[in-house]
Amino acid sequence: MAIATTTQTVDTKQDLGCHADQAVIKDTIPVVETSFSEDDASKNGVSSPSTPPLQKARSVIHHHLEHLDPLLREFNRQIHSNPEVAYKEFFAHDTLASFLEKQGFVVKKHAYGLETSFEAEIGQGGRLVVFCAEYDALPGIGHACGHNLIATSSLAGFLGAVQTLKELNLPGRIRILGTPAEEGGGGKVKLIEAGAFNPPEDIAAAIMAHPVALHQIGGEADCFGLAAFKLIASHKFRVEFSGKTAHAAGEPWKGRNALDAAVAAYSSVALLRQQIQPDERMHGIIEVGGTVPNVIPEYTRMNWYIRSPTNKRCDELLKRVKTCLEAAAAATDCSINYIAAPTYQNLRANETLCQTFVDEMAALDKKVLLHVTKAGLFNASTDMGNVSHLVPSFHGAFVIPTDPDVAGHNPKFAASAGTDEGHVAAINCAKGMAMLAIRTLLEDKTAAGARKDFETDDD
Ligand SMILES: [Zn+2]
Ligand SMILES: [Zn+2]
Repeated sequence: MAIATTTQTVDTKQDLGCHADQAVIKDTIPVVETSFSEDDASKNGVSSPSTPPLQKARSVIHHHLEHLDPLLREFNRQIHSNPEVAYKEFFAHDTLASFLEKQGFVVKKHAYGLETSFEAEIGQGGRLVVFCAEYDALPGIGHACGHNLIATSSLAGFLGAVQTLKELNLPGRIRILGTPAEEGGGGKVKLIEAGAFNPPEDIAAAIMAHPVALHQIGGEADCFGLAAFKLIASHKFRVEFSGKTAHAAGEPWKGRNALDAAVAAYSSVALLRQQIQPDERMHGIIEVGGTVPNVIPEYTRMNWYIRSPTNKRCDELLKRVKTCLEAAAAATDCSINYIAAPTYQNLRANETLCQTFVDEMAALDKKVLLHVTKAGLFNASTDMGNVSHLVPSFHGAFVIPTDPDVAGHNPKFAASAGTDEGHVAAINCAKGMAMLAIRTLLEDKTAAGARKDFETDDD
């Protein structure tokens, strides 16, 4: 994508007394030349005299989100103080739906057969951009993954983009989709199965971003975030071992010990860990391990996540792990049964969408890495990976202040996710995502580039 840089003055004098730390459109900023042209305008039904300059869109988004910020801060605080686990996000569902209704949207509640999903959409014709909002928490440690900030930034991004569409009278459609149960429940996988992204050809981009600690993305101190956040594939499943109970002291020879099967399985996978690639992960726990020592356990259950950077490699690794599990069952004369959970596919990074986001954050004077520059960084998985294999997708990362050694899934990260600084980062990210949405809707080149990146095999 050809990008030229020029300098343009933007009037920010009528700024609405925004939060001191929040990014403002600079008085004099390097303006990224848009690929939006009058040709594009006529194709999209926008007459050339009213062709909206990107600066105008940026200004609308900035002022609208500053205007809504007290409400958005309160919304964020409420979600953060009421953490709910996968598929139980009833408070978050109702709070989001009510926020949108008060802003004048018609909200489809309990969407796609999921109690805690919702959907709202505005616009007509043109292309469609979908903001994905996560809001589930982790058992016992609250919003230690910061999904309250995801909900806030996706909501704000949606509202900013919608306002621009309305004020500038632009074509296109913008949707917000509530995507519950990212933490292990595969909410987006169920939404995909229920048709929430159908027809996929109709969706020009699905957009969201995740809060991170600085060291998770390996940036310098002034780094705002990362665009091409590549997360790895994850097979998730439970395995049950069934044996035969017996008095553990009286006549143990009559028993078949299902806990022995689980222990042997755990040990075998631990040994296998020495012969896998450094960028792969396998971790399991024993969820049911027996009742009392003097009864030979006849039933045990383990929960496993097997992860690798690509779907193909993840399938291969799963095969090797299953060999360990089945060998453990055979060695202990127990039977084995798998309970499958949704697989999280690897998260694909769409170069065009990532570069557009980087450019838009630069217009806010925020430095965003296009790609990671260091090896061996934080690894994780997301069900947005599955969306990224279905439609062109953007899943960026924005930094929130944390203690030096604290990353996601740590109770201290939950505290960071509740701070004003975390909120400001989420809103700044929302401004970039709103512009990403607007440019995807308006610019043929951006939409076509995103589609081409999506269709290019990167496995
Ligand atoms: Zn998480
Ligand atoms: Zn998360």
